[in-house]
Amino acid sequence: MAVELSSFEKKIHIQGHGIKITTALKQQIYDEGFYPIALTWIGDDVTGPFSFSGYGDDSPFELRKVDDQYHVFQNGKFYTEVTFYRRPEFWSHQFDFGAKGSSDSKSGINSTVFIDEGMAGVITPCGQSALDFDDDQGDVLKLTRGRFPFVSVACYNGLSSWPSWGCMYTKAKQPCKFCCIPGAFDESKILYTQEGWLEGLAETFVDVEKELGEDIRECSYTIDAGTLPGSDKGANVYIKVLDAIKNRLGHLPKTYYIRAVIEPPHGDEWLYALKEAGFTDIQMDVDIYDDEERRRLMPNAKGYRPIADYLKAFQKAKEIFPGEVATQLIAGIQSDENLLKGVEQFASLGVPTLVTPFLPFGQGRKLIRDEEEIDVPTPDRMLHIYERAAASLTRHNVDAPGFRGGVSSLPEFMGKRKKRAGALTNYQKGAAARVLEPALAL
Ligand code: SF4
Repeated sequence: MAVELSSFEKKIHIQGHGIKITTALKQQIYDEGFYPIALTWIGDDVTGPFSFSGYGDDSPFELRKVDDQYHVFQNGKFYTEVTFYRRPEFWSHQFDFGAKGSSDSKSGINSTVFIDEGMAGVITPCGQSALDFDDDQGDVLKLTRGRFPFVSVACYNGLSSWPSWGCMYTKAKQPCKFCCIPGAFDESKILYTQEGWLEGLAETFVDVEKELGEDIRECSYTIDAGTLPGSDKGANVYIKVLDAIKNRLGHLPKTYYIRAVIEPPHGDEWLYALKEAGFTDIQMDVDIYDDEERRRLMPNAKGYRPIADYLKAFQKAKEIFPGEVATQLIAGIQSDENLLKGVEQFASLGVPTLVTPFLPFGQGRKLIRDEEEIDVPTPDRMLHIYERAAASLTRHNVDAPGFRGGVSSLPEFMGKRKKRAGALTNYQKGAAARVLEPALAL
């Protein structure tokens, strides 16, 4: 008799393969009013990634619509039912960014507040698969209708803004080898410098509040970007974003946390300034733990920053921020033992690690092509890492990261799931209608 897999087992299997989905089906999902990108639900659980980026084109998993329901098939056999995020109204908020003009769909910017589907740092170059990308025309992002070039996969009720999805390392042609941002650096991705962008962001938040109502308290708000120039690593821009929202609303977003994801700024004063501006939580992603592996996989200033810099920043941030200080390590491209050493060391400082699988997006595709031993980690390997990571967190009495994303936040092991926000979910479809129960600790 076939053994019924748990939603966790299902998603961890899918995670390693991606899911094939046709361009027509993607469009249909969009037209039906769903968030047209990667997130799916298996029962009450979140999974990703779908093959909106081309990843998964060789996967045994495939999305089909059967009798008005979306199903995933594995090698032609029914595997699981899935649902999608409902697309909130605020996502379509349009505004004029002034003379430089970004309100046309080609520019790729309409709304400035997104549903963060983040698999913690794994950014899916949505709409940039071979099917969606026309090099000659530069006509990218058809799938998202120009709205959102990059999205990460599988967060819970997460709101996010990206003041820039360019990165100074990409600009210097020294991107991290696992970086999910594809292609060459493009100045137009530096959004915060565009006239009217900050005001537009603040204006969108008026709609966000209206639409989410009290459910906003079940949501997180993250500000994230590629590393920005300057010793503050972008902190001053993050502060401007919160200031703009505060000025428009008269208060900060009433989310359960406001998180900055940032490379550690040089100088503690920037950590104080972020806290002062209203950030309650901070995430500083180490990504690769061993100093030698760091230099190999991140041939840029970040890779040459020693772990000691991060440890110092974690300790200071723990003194400053009322919420969580967290980090991320990427599994599959560094030695598991090194990664787990990192998890243990950070946990000893009270810092939880999001363990995120390497996925072959952006630069990662090249890495997989160039280095034979690199591949997407298998479900068994990930499971083993998660188990040992969870044991480290437990030993040091550290909660799983507050970020409720995919498998990376280990909710199956330690987490407590959040009630899904009504404006973002899809209550009409099958299993998605259930109210969530806290996950059981294993
Ligand atoms: S820091 Fe590295 S991974 Fe992050 S955006 Fe820049 S190049 Fe990409």
